[in-house]
Amino acid sequence: MTHESFDVVIVGAAVVGSAAAHFLTAAGGRRVLLLERDPSYSTCATGRSLASIRHQFSVAENIRMSRFGTEFLRRPEALAVDGEVPAIGLREDGYLFLTSAAGREQLARNHALQRAEGADIAWLEPDALADRFPWLATHDLAAGTLGLRGEGWIDAHALMHGLRRKAVAQGAVLRHAEVARLVREGGRVVAVELADGSRIGCGWVVNAAGTGATALARSAGIALPVQSRKRCVFHFRSPAVLPRCPLVIEPSGLYFRPEGAGFLAGLAPPEHDDPECFDFDVPANLFEDTIWPRLAARVPGFEAVRLVSSWAGHYDVNLLDHNVILGPHPEVPNLLFANGFSGHGVQQAPAVGRALAEWVGHGRYTSLDLGAFGWARVLEGRPLRELNVV
Ligand SMILES: Cc1cc2nc3c(=O)[nH]c(=O)nc-3n(C[C@H](O)[C@H](O)[C@H](O)COP(=O)(O)OP(=O)(O)OC[C@H]3O[C@@H](n4cnc5c(N)ncnc54)[C@H](O)[C@@H]3O)c2cc1C
Repeated sequence: MTHESFDVVIVGAAVVGSAAAHFLTAAGGRRVLLLERDPSYSTCATGRSLASIRHQFSVAENIRMSRFGTEFLRRPEALAVDGEVPAIGLREDGYLFLTSAAGREQLARNHALQRAEGADIAWLEPDALADRFPWLATHDLAAGTLGLRGEGWIDAHALMHGLRRKAVAQGAVLRHAEVARLVREGGRVVAVELADGSRIGCGWVVNAAGTGATALARSAGIALPVQSRKRCVFHFRSPAVLPRCPLVIEPSGLYFRPEGAGFLAGLAPPEHDDPECFDFDVPANLFEDTIWPRLAARVPGFEAVRLVSSWAGHYDVNLLDHNVILGPHPEVPNLLFANGFSGHGVQQAPAVGRALAEWVGHGRYTSLDLGAFGWARVLEGRPLRELNVV
């Protein structure tokens, strides 16, 4: 039986659900409920992410979303509650994409698009790379692109908690409960059913459940092509000193960036060895056998490193094209999706939260047109493929 109802019910209160709640309540006029099954937020992707933001994408809409993300992150005071400003701590130290000869043309195409979109990205030939980053091995590199402004990293926990706290201060209701299923009647979701069997009526539902989104969609009869894929992060220290070190992505896909007195690093597994996965085990010897040799080959100073800790998290991978699936499903127009971020959801949360609030308020996107990320491409099998997936 349905006892109560809300205009908008958001399932999942990590960074995306909280961003949606923030923008919806900032717009006002609607009762918003945030439902979250894990009050510790200890296993959600948001809490395990690298929390970095870049403008170096190959799809224009991704660049636009992250450019808005940077603007938003530069003004944490907009999320102040009772005078307390969340310590989001944006550091604009940039991303450095490196390429061998094989990838030079694609990097040049990406760079041209990024510049046309207004992103401040510099093209660096190998000599310029060696001058600027004397600690980097450049013998096998054909070029690099470096974000001069707007790219860097934050504290993702501070962003997530700051968005949620602000949403609640603006009137959102936060409840810790698991949504067992969506109750669909014809072309509408009429209620969410909680694990205890109770139901809450809804005008709109936002699926912001991360890797839980596929099961939730299935309960409403919708096949969401999103799977959970494990990604591991390693925290290490080294006596090496790397002045002006950005987040470096080298041609093999290995990445590293500074974190406090040490560094974080990781590498996506090869496509043929990247199964759907829900465990949090870090494979034994992955650091020693695979990560460290590549680190030392790219930065000779990393011959000496000490592993401090490691963890695994899950990407919600969109199997079609590695981009978010955003907005209503045509068969169920009051069910809104924000899933399949494939590793770039923290930085896109502000733009996506704003877009969802616009959709609920106006039935269309009024600032950034994100229609390209809608269900149409999924249902028609027309990938909008992002080439820069880290
Ligand atoms: C190792 C790693 C590194 C990453 N690095 C970056 C990066 O540098 N930059 C970047 O932008 N992104 C990065 N990402 C991706 C980013 O973390 C995610 O895209 C983003 O956090 C997704 O946010 P979300 O709110 O959609 O999902 P999540 O953070 O996964 O949250 C989903 C929430 O929904 C809740 N939930 C699920 N099902 C239910 C249910 N049935 N009922 C109630 N609650 C439910 C869960 O408990 C969870 O709290 C990284 C991810 C990983 C794993």
